[in-house]
Amino acid sequence: MSTLIDLRYTQDLLLELLNTPSPTGNTETAIGLVEGAFNDLGLRTRRTRKGALLATLPGPASAPAKALTGHVDTLGGIVKEIRENGRLRLSNLGGYYPGSIVGEYCRIEAANGRIFTGTVLLEKQSVHIHPMAELHAAAKELPHLEVRIDARTTSDKETGALGICVGDFVSWAPRAKVTDTGFIKSRHLDDKAGVATMLAAARAMVRRNITPAQTSYFFISNYEEVGHGTSVGIPDNVASLLAVDMGVVGKGQTGDEFSVSICAKDSSGPYDLSLRRELVALAQAAGIDHKVDVYANYASDGSAALRAGLNARVALIGPGVDSSHAYERTHLDGLVNTARLIVEFLK
Ligand SMILES: [Zn+2]
Repeated sequence: MSTLIDLRYTQDLLLELLNTPSPTGNTETAIGLVEGAFNDLGLRTRRTRKGALLATLPGPASAPAKALTGHVDTLGGIVKEIRENGRLRLSNLGGYYPGSIVGEYCRIEAANGRIFTGTVLLEKQSVHIHPMAELHAAAKELPHLEVRIDARTTSDKETGALGICVGDFVSWAPRAKVTDTGFIKSRHLDDKAGVATMLAAARAMVRRNITPAQTSYFFISNYEEVGHGTSVGIPDNVASLLAVDMGVVGKGQTGDEFSVSICAKDSSGPYDLSLRRELVALAQAAGIDHKVDVYANYASDGSAALRAGLNARVALIGPGVDSSHAYERTHLDGLVNTARLIVEFLK
């Protein structure tokens, strides 16, 4: 295994990021954390008006420049309605199967600044009351789920008195854990694992004095899960954009949790063929475990940038993530392989 990438740094940073709630639309704390990490490496940063982050690693030539993009925003919920029983009805932030959050702990950021904990449950949850068939049906639809707040409330009035309002953000407990076999289990590895690999690559280059062949940008977007993260903010001099986002792992996929996935095509169409071939050649030359793959139901911030009119070659890579948009898992090897390919791409 390569010693180029500092595994301890990557793992610690990823865990800190995973434990920082950042449902799409409420990402300031996570953006601030990543900003601090880039600044610690000596990279200059600035924010876009939308609140995304751009860090710059200067190179000898300012054009044509290269850029990477990853996203810190995650799936989550927003309070849609305070129910008569005092519990909360949610509207989804991003796309997921409602059943994948049933039983999950959550965190409610109330309008008055107070933080409450709770649990996502089916409105008909107790098997001692409701027939099993009703439970099965309910798990398929978000309107049949509710948040049980860890506070004494049995009415909408009492919940309102706590300071909880419609529009408050709700995030899931990530339950992030690194196993002694090197797996990382957590929610929101999409795309915090990708962002961690970008920082790991930047750190490797700074520490080893590897100057990029051209000025390089690290763009951290904050609205990917709703489709418009990297639609603005990539500098005009960028000729090649590499989106770093989770690789799909599962039935019918070539990718796995130990490799970097290189995406040939997703729902938004094929990525740039010449850039994809360059990435495959770089991975082969450097002995980086990689898999070329196609994703059936997927779009990335690279797609968002292209749709918005970015005039650049765009490709997509990322660590393989199992059970995406649910309780996910990847492996430290997948992070290292992704970070190494980023270094090869920039140097
Ligand atoms: Zn993603």
